[in-house]
Amino acid sequence: MGYIELDVIDQPKRIVVGIDLGTTNSLAAVFEDGRPRVLHPEGQSGIVPSVVYVPAEGLPIVGANGKAHAVDDPKHTIFSIKRFMGRGLSDIEDDLSTLPYDVRETERGLVQIDLHGKTWTPQQLSSLIIGAVLEKVRVATGGAEVTGVVITVPAYFDDAQRHATRDAAKLAGVDVLRIVNEPTAASLAYGLDQKSEGTVAVFDLGGGTFDVSVLSIEDGVFQVLATNGDTRLGGDDIDRTLVDLARTELADQVPAETLTDPAFLQAARLAAEHCKIALSKDPEHEMHLSLPGLNWRRTVTRAEMESLARPLIDRALACCKRALADAELEVADIEEVVLVGGSTRMPLVRSAVQEFFGREPHTALDPDEVVALGAAIQAHVLTGGTRDILLMDVTPLSMGIETVGGAVAKMIERNSTIPCSHNEGFTTYAEGQTGINFNVVQGEREMAADCRSLGKFELKGIPPMPAGMPRVAVRFALDADGMLTVTAKEESTGALASIDIQPMHGLTDEEVETMLSAGFENAQEDFDRRRVVDLRTEIGTMMAAVEKNMAAAEDALDQETFEDLLAAMASGQAAQKSDDLKTVQSARDLLETASTPLAAVLMDSVVKQAVSGKKLDEV
Ligand code: AMP
Repeated sequence: MGYIELDVIDQPKRIVVGIDLGTTNSLAAVFEDGRPRVLHPEGQSGIVPSVVYVPAEGLPIVGANGKAHAVDDPKHTIFSIKRFMGRGLSDIEDDLSTLPYDVRETERGLVQIDLHGKTWTPQQLSSLIIGAVLEKVRVATGGAEVTGVVITVPAYFDDAQRHATRDAAKLAGVDVLRIVNEPTAASLAYGLDQKSEGTVAVFDLGGGTFDVSVLSIEDGVFQVLATNGDTRLGGDDIDRTLVDLARTELADQVPAETLTDPAFLQAARLAAEHCKIALSKDPEHEMHLSLPGLNWRRTVTRAEMESLARPLIDRALACCKRALADAELEVADIEEVVLVGGSTRMPLVRSAVQEFFGREPHTALDPDEVVALGAAIQAHVLTGGTRDILLMDVTPLSMGIETVGGAVAKMIERNSTIPCSHNEGFTTYAEGQTGINFNVVQGEREMAADCRSLGKFELKGIPPMPAGMPRVAVRFALDADGMLTVTAKEESTGALASIDIQPMHGLTDEEVETMLSAGFENAQEDFDRRRVVDLRTEIGTMMAAVEKNMAAAEDALDQETFEDLLAAMASGQAAQKSDDLKTVQSARDLLETASTPLAAVLMDSVVKQAVSGKKLDEV
């Protein structure tokens, strides 16, 4: 019997999504398998920076690639377009003086932006951002057709601003199921709609703005009782306090014009934000600024950062007070507190909010995702879905792998909603290393020995290469049932190894509790031990590099510099056996200073050989 061949045409999957169209970032989420999740293409973030670059010729560039033009062409790189949606010039007077581009008003009193002789409305620019978000959705879902979206807006958006948002989505060619308030979406993400009645405060501290909303819920219906906020208060202001600290301390060391130089300010802002974020995790961090002619290091403790940030947090709390007064409520009337926005990851923000409201805020979800997740739930419910099966599980303990020296590289943070996954690149430590042993651990402590080992496996077949050359991609994937799969793959050969683990297997609730409190109690001690291990690893790498070039060093360096280098190597060797943070730190610093002339000589010789006509590989 013969078979008839049929051409099967795959119908694209049809989905509805929730979109958080933010001032700085936008992203989309979908409700699937009983829970919402943010959509992102494999190995990429789902976040689209809300930035549009309009070149003189060619198509506008949206997102991270557009943002990259902020420095070279600020006049045509549009940030924060959300502030102008549905607004006239008189509404945005405060912003006008700081805008690098030309803004005009239409006959109907709405804002327009001139770019290369063409006028753009905020709706058009926003539609490009929505388009870029939908493109990520398309890639993430393997080409699903988006048949409708729920878009979120701040609770204080008026009718014109909501209309403008709806129009932006229409321009992007997508059907708007509903415009939803951001604080409502955040509350939905935490399942608060399932309370029969209650009062919720949503505290949203992002990079540039702060909003607080007081909502009431009755039988699943939300009502905004009051909103307050400050459009000029956010994480950027906290960064600025650290930039100011750097400027004050550098004032008598460098010329005044250096401190106002755009390159200095940009580097200082980045270092400040990096330091601030590190301090959300660690009790202290070394802020480091390195520019031609300037090398500044300064240890900042969390306590110091908190005293700098405190006045800013107090401003946010004053807004909360006003919102409560407007809603005619007392603090004690608030039953649930929800945190939104990246800056609510700061421990100070969490504790200040907890103290102010007298109750622990919800923090289990990623504060950058919570609005999109809620929007996805709303989209699901609007298209006839139910959320009875909504199950928001989180992993109670962090998971990671042991790295050189016994420190833990965390791959999945505790309280991550499952399913989830994380990828990170690793490399070898020893020359010619052909295998890597992985120890997968669980717990909150910094050293693997203090955590619980979940399993071990080995990646073999790495071709012998210099230390640091092989690229090994490690992936942790935790599925909805709590099963962890860890895979390690060496990129050049494709060598692969993996292990399946059931992390919660055999752990009682009490054991989880004990592991958690051990993490908190030992934070400072753990931090120091980890720092010692990291520094010793760094010393090892530096010493190996120096040893490789010892002959060149003896030839090219003057006697004194060479002897300094030998002395630094000796102290590096001694430090390898020390557990004292100060000793190891100073040995590392000494080695760095003493090896700088050698690095310069090596660079120089490479350059000289190159100009004298020799091929680089002959050097
Ligand atoms: P958003 O606008 O909600 O994306 O928030 C961005 C702000 O959150 C920026 O100022 C970031 O520096 C800040 N941020 C992100 N992660 C952290 C963290 N772990 N600790 C402190 N601030 C953070």
